[in-house]
Amino acid sequence: MKIALIAHDKKKDEMIKLAIKYKDVLKNHELYATGTTGTLVMGETALPIKRMKSGPLGGDQQIGSMIADGKLNLVIFLRDPLTAQPHEPDVSALLRLCDVQNIPLATNTASAEVMLQHIEECEKNKK
Ligand code: PGA
Repeated sequence: MKIALIAHDKKKDEMIKLAIKYKDVLKNHELYATGTTGTLVMGETALPIKRMKSGPLGGDQQIGSMIADGKLNLVIFLRDPLTAQPHEPDVSALLRLCDVQNIPLATNTASAEVMLQHIEECEKNKK
């Protein structure tokens, strides 16, 4: 699967913890991320991640373009719902495109864990 990882600044620690916890699942998939999220997760997990530009500098739109082209299968976007984002229009567009293309989208850790656990179970059943 092609999986995108994005986290707003106050959610980056949560993303790192999530990636560490599910490293064995994530390592079997092709990973993409916005710039800063990707750099941090790669630094902490050594997982290979293709990085786009930083979110506020166009990275969310680059991920959105991949979604529009059918090039992503799952998006984990840990949003900070309590802080105004300068690139809110890009964030909304990305979320909307997930719905347009019917791409699974987790916007918080609890839903991301449900999805990653499901992928883990499916992989176990294949063995
Ligand atoms: P970042 O972008 O990973 O480059 O910080 C995330 C975002 O705010 O969209």
